[in-house]
Amino acid sequence: KKVADRYLKREVLGEGTYGVVYKAIDTKTGQTVAIKKIRLGKQKEGINFTALREIKLLKELKDPNIIELIDAFPHKGNLHLVFEFMETDLEAVIRDRNIFLSPADIKSYIQMTLKGLAFCHKKWVLHRDMKPNNLLIGPNGQLKLADFGLARIFGSPDRKFTHQVFARWYRAPELLFGTKQYGSGVDVWAAACIFAELLLRRPFLQGTSDIDQLGKIFAAFGTPTSSQWPDMVYLPDYVEYQYVPAPSLRSLFPMASDDALDLLSKMFTYDPKVRISVQQALEHRYFSSAPPPTDPPKLPRPN
Ligand code: ADP
Repeated sequence: KKVADRYLKREVLGEGTYGVVYKAIDTKTGQTVAIKKIRLGKQKEGINFTALREIKLLKELKDPNIIELIDAFPHKGNLHLVFEFMETDLEAVIRDRNIFLSPADIKSYIQMTLKGLAFCHKKWVLHRDMKPNNLLIGPNGQLKLADFGLARIFGSPDRKFTHQVFARWYRAPELLFGTKQYGSGVDVWAAACIFAELLLRRPFLQGTSDIDQLGKIFAAFGTPTSSQWPDMVYLPDYVEYQYVPAPSLRSLFPMASDDALDLLSKMFTYDPKVRISVQQALEHRYFSSAPPPTDPPKLPRPN
């Protein structure tokens, strides 16, 4: 079945946060693409102009570590977003027990993640929904960030779709404390959780509710003190917590190198104003010290 005279619809790839995702062939280029059909449901007048302008901006965001938004068009009351097709994602890599990830492989995956983030932060676009299944992997091993900027255009997915529980595990403490003025630090925290997940091969901070998520964070890093994070007490949902001491990060990540642990601790800084930026993280000695990151085509992927 043809969509908008250009795309030949194939099978459903999955149901995402905003709607169904189809595999399709772009008859103009012969390229395989993924089409995300976004229900515009309630908005009777269709998609508003702000959203369209934002989508146009997303189309301009082109980087080797960002999924390219090839096309966007309304069709039968749905908005269709056309992306380059990707074979797998980082979640599948992390979960695959047949895959061994060497320190060099982990370095490569996290470096590509940070490079994609750095590009977007430079353009003042936040991701806001970073998680391993949003990090897609292409045929040559390139990792690319998906769903960039969609959270801002279509609203935070978590509030509308309660089945979206996984994103909580990647949520920064300032978001859990209800901040309304979050910045690029929320993506750094999420990237740190993904880094930790690559090292542990399981999600690091698996909260069962927002309160429990904070509890998991405090258990890992100790309760934040007001000298560590002076603005914390002014956050809307701040409540005083019983003191929990911090275990050593080394005890949580026995296999990580000293450089990896140092970077991880800087990304997991409580105060978002003190937290390392993505650009600074890329300049950290972890990336220049041995072993060098694995060349993407040589990275292990699921069969
Ligand atoms: P979520 O909102 O839960 O992150 P998505 O809407 O991103 O989910 O995607 C839904 C499904 O479609 C997932 O199974 C994902 O693997 C697949 N998918 C999304 N984008 C692409 C793409 N560019 N190439 C291939 N598959 C994709």
